[in-house]
Amino acid sequence: MTDPLSTSADVLVLGAGIAGLAAARTLTDKGLSVIVLEARTRIGGRMWTDSSLGLPLDLGASWIHGVSGNPITKLAKQFGVKTVPTDDENGMAFAADGSILPDDEFTRMEALFDDIYEEVAAMQEDTDEDMSLQEAFDVVIADRNLSEEDLRRLNYYAYLSTALEYGADAKDLSAWWWDQDEEFDGEEVIFPGGYNQITDGLANGLDIRLGTVVKIVRYGADGVEIETSAGSFVADKAVVTFPLGVLKQASVKFEPPLPESKQAAIDRLVMGVLNKVYLKFSEAFWDEDVETISYVGEELGEWCDWLSFVPFTGAPVLMAFHGGEKGFALEDLSDDDIRAGAMATLRVMFGDDIPEPEGMLVTRWGKDPFTFGAYSHIPPFASGDDYDALFAPVNDVLFFAGEAMSREYPGTVHGAYLSGVAAVEEM
Ligand SMILES: Cc1cc2nc3c(=O)[nH]c(=O)nc-3n(C[C@H](O)[C@H](O)[C@H](O)COP(=O)(O)OP(=O)(O)OC[C@H]3O[C@@H](n4cnc5c(N)ncnc54)[C@H](O)[C@@H]3O)c2cc1C
Repeated sequence: MTDPLSTSADVLVLGAGIAGLAAARTLTDKGLSVIVLEARTRIGGRMWTDSSLGLPLDLGASWIHGVSGNPITKLAKQFGVKTVPTDDENGMAFAADGSILPDDEFTRMEALFDDIYEEVAAMQEDTDEDMSLQEAFDVVIADRNLSEEDLRRLNYYAYLSTALEYGADAKDLSAWWWDQDEEFDGEEVIFPGGYNQITDGLANGLDIRLGTVVKIVRYGADGVEIETSAGSFVADKAVVTFPLGVLKQASVKFEPPLPESKQAAIDRLVMGVLNKVYLKFSEAFWDEDVETISYVGEELGEWCDWLSFVPFTGAPVLMAFHGGEKGFALEDLSDDDIRAGAMATLRVMFGDDIPEPEGMLVTRWGKDPFTFGAYSHIPPFASGDDYDALFAPVNDVLFFAGEAMSREYPGTVHGAYLSGVAAVEEM
């Protein structure tokens, strides 16, 4: 541990999200002195467990996506943190009028979507020029003569696998590259006690300076000098883990400016959004065994995907996702309007007699000045190579890590973690 008053170290790590903590932990274990500079008054970045409703609820990441071989599974075991598997097949679905969609209808739609998706995947190989994923969908759907209702349900599936997974709508994703990322196999699990148990475990014993906003990163042959809201810090090297949104906004200045190849990749890749609304009730008025509740309403993407926390924590809590444009639009609404929108939809599904929520949490990741979005995605004409360009070190002095510096696993906790470890290996 460095002296708490020291302003110099072997390495400065900029940002105390999972990527920064992974880098700082790895460097410390190798015997180097490290100071972590973090703008917020908490660690974890886009991993943020809030307990203000009386139980831990994750406002950022919730899942380990695929536990087999996943480094976060290893950390959960190391820190003795409890996880529970989720099953997105264990759900019920409602049509726009509030009637329950029968299972076989859901299965039919899933099969149709898979079929169309396969044709779109084949187009990835066959087209000479990139286009948006929506354009590719449109080409495939044009031949199919689908009814208005089938089209609506199909768009619903597309929304689930684009806006709710990549934080961007099909029209904003590259048809060639949108799903170039790799996956780990195995169960999807969440943390009933909150994801910050992982970041707390990693942070244990590290020298982290909270409330320290980095303003200028100066670098040269002699090392780095970092100007912050709490004074200057110097080191031989730095690991930069600012989110893509922060790099795009240029709210931190680099002197000299970053190389053109890196700046071009920052300009090309895009930050999408995924927002969560948690509602806590006095009691559950929905089927307590069910995990997911789907609503295929008139307005695509509004209040369409819900997760019940009863099976995982016993608490009568529902969480709704909004992603892509609907996710950004949600951020402009007042909390009262958001509550009213949620309750109107729940009443269509569960009747007029359901109680008002006792508490609510709303995220607005797009407006957050220390991320400006939820995670990165690849728009038309950008590519997976841009992730490599973001990761590439500069002058053997600046090293980069974060979800947007992970070509294999962007937009995930494990991708950010692995990039932090990889940045240190690179060093
Ligand atoms: C709503 C939501 C749901 C998600 N769900 C999942 C999921 O279920 N599973 C999954 O694997 N992933 C999920 N993710 C993605 C995952 O949370 C991120 O990929 C990962 O946490 C990013 O880690 P990071 O270290 O790259 O960035 P961050 O966590 O953003 O860390 C960067 C740090 O830099 C700090 N910083 C920024 N600017 C400055 C500055 N000027 N000076 C000093 N410090 C600064 C920030 O405050 C932050 O702490 C989700 C994300 C969101 C938003």
